Amino acid sequence: MKETKNYEELLEELEDLKFQLKEANETLHAIRTGQIDALVVETEDGPQLYTLKSADHTYRVFIEKMKEGAVTLNRKGIILYSNSQFADMIDVPLAKVIGLPIIDFIPDQYKGKFKKMTEQGWESDSKGEIFLKSNSGKSIPFLLSFTSLELDEGTALSIILTDLTLQKENEKQLELKNQQLEAARLAAYKMNEELEDIVEERTKDLLISREYFKLLADNIPVIIWTATIDGKLDYVNRRWVEYTGFDVEESKTKQSELLHTDDVERSIAEWQTALKEKRKYEGEFRFKRAIDGTYRWHYSQAIPFKDEQGNITAWIGTNIDIDDQKKELEKKDEFIGVASHELKTPLTSLKGYIQLMEFQDNLSDEAKIYVTKATSSINKLQHLIDELLDASKIKAGKLKFKKHAFNLTQLVSLCVENSTYMYPSFKIKKELQEGIIAYGNDERIEQVLMNLINNAAKYSGDKKEIIIRAEKNNDSAMVSVIDFGIGMVNSDQELIFERFYRANGHESTMPGLGMGLYISSEIIKEHKGEIHVKSKLNEGSVFSFSLPLATQFAQTSDD
Ligand code: ADP
Repeated sequence: MKETKNYEELLEELEDLKFQLKEANETLHAIRTGQIDALVVETEDGPQLYTLKSADHTYRVFIEKMKEGAVTLNRKGIILYSNSQFADMIDVPLAKVIGLPIIDFIPDQYKGKFKKMTEQGWESDSKGEIFLKSNSGKSIPFLLSFTSLELDEGTALSIILTDLTLQKENEKQLELKNQQLEAARLAAYKMNEELEDIVEERTKDLLISREYFKLLADNIPVIIWTATIDGKLDYVNRRWVEYTGFDVEESKTKQSELLHTDDVERSIAEWQTALKEKRKYEGEFRFKRAIDGTYRWHYSQAIPFKDEQGNITAWIGTNIDIDDQKKELEKKDEFIGVASHELKTPLTSLKGYIQLMEFQDNLSDEAKIYVTKATSSINKLQHLIDELLDASKIKAGKLKFKKHAFNLTQLVSLCVENSTYMYPSFKIKKELQEGIIAYGNDERIEQVLMNLINNAAKYSGDKKEIIIRAEKNNDSAMVSVIDFGIGMVNSDQELIFERFYRANGHESTMPGLGMGLYISSEIIKEHKGEIHVKSKLNEGSVFSFSLPLATQFAQTSDD
């Protein structure tokens, strides 16, 4: 039966316990601060006295201050001394740590290992890693450093415990980083290998396509060459070598020998312009043939070869021998020149006779109609012959005329007036800025303007409206002829000013030679002006030309 205690007895017991606690705390404090060098510990074999041989105060303070745990054990593994860090580590109040067997804080699976470590520690200074479990059940990795100490009553084992949690965490992080690094390295390696494969494949493709290119280039009867981005020759095909007698290296230094002296400067300038403006090169020059040393006309073109980003990486050029065609054309021009000249004399007398007939009194009405028709046909014929003569003059570089200041507004107005008589079914509107004084040849400008008006009427379809505009534009005068007729596609607009060129297949459907615009553009060029067309199929065309204003020139006429 349990003995019941009265109030006084309980009070006495409480006081006793309080005293014991105070005594224990004082003892601990005294040990830690070095005030005592010995203490009595209750063990299974009764009370035991422990003293430290070298109870150095300084060392104890160190031990208290250091962040590692420090314990001292007796042979039975009972904790004789612990610093407060160790107590904190295992989560047990410091007052309770002393006297406890340390094995209580070793997880079961490590108990064997710990035993071996302590045995070794008793023998000599040693170290080892192990997990300790705290009072709250947490496993903490520690590095244990064992040293046996000589105490008065025998040896004790001191253990310094370093918490490895942070270090282990760092090691884990490091390992993770290493793994990531290794994965990245592997990925880079793989990518590199793939890249190498692609490069190898591309190189193979490139070699094959180069071989194809060479095979093709060497087996067609056209001269083919390539140049670097800055225009230096770096490949010539077999035909080039056969024609010039030079390979690529020789050709690089023989440029002035290969081109006719009269063509060198112009051709180099044209090539440099194409390089600078990064656009297709087109040119004609005389190119020396090795076999007989003759210079033959060649038509040459080169297109820039661009990469995926649109940067030019090379130029690919071709030369075509056009000497025979050019000579044929020259012969034709010569023939046209002579023929039109020869035709002009009988035509002039024919015109004279017809005019004489017109004034005959006894002409029947029927004959009068024939005379009018003959006059109109003769006028058309004269127009054609004049065009042919002009064209051959242009080809021979003989289209020259005097220039002077003239009232462009008046000239345009006069042409509009004439056109209203010529094309009575048309509504011809003029939009003229007053008093434009241009510099040029008024007869030739009239010829250009009448050609544009005639075309506007001729290619009007069923839209019988024409607008004629003259205005000042900065330093030049600008004349435009606007129609709403059949118009033309872009590709035609680029070629329309060339000799004999006719758009929309007009060769077979409309009378004409395809010379009017060629002559007009040459006349305007001779005036240092410009001629343009803007057109849309089935919507109409705007032909414009510019002329210098008289204010820019000296009052005296030139050539
Ligand atoms: P021609 O009229 O004798 O053919 P041109 O040199 O005057 O010669 O004109 C060349 C070509 O340009 C014409 O054949 C025609 O196809 C086209 N052309 C000229 N003017 C116009 C225009 N106003 N509208 C549509 N096409 C035009």
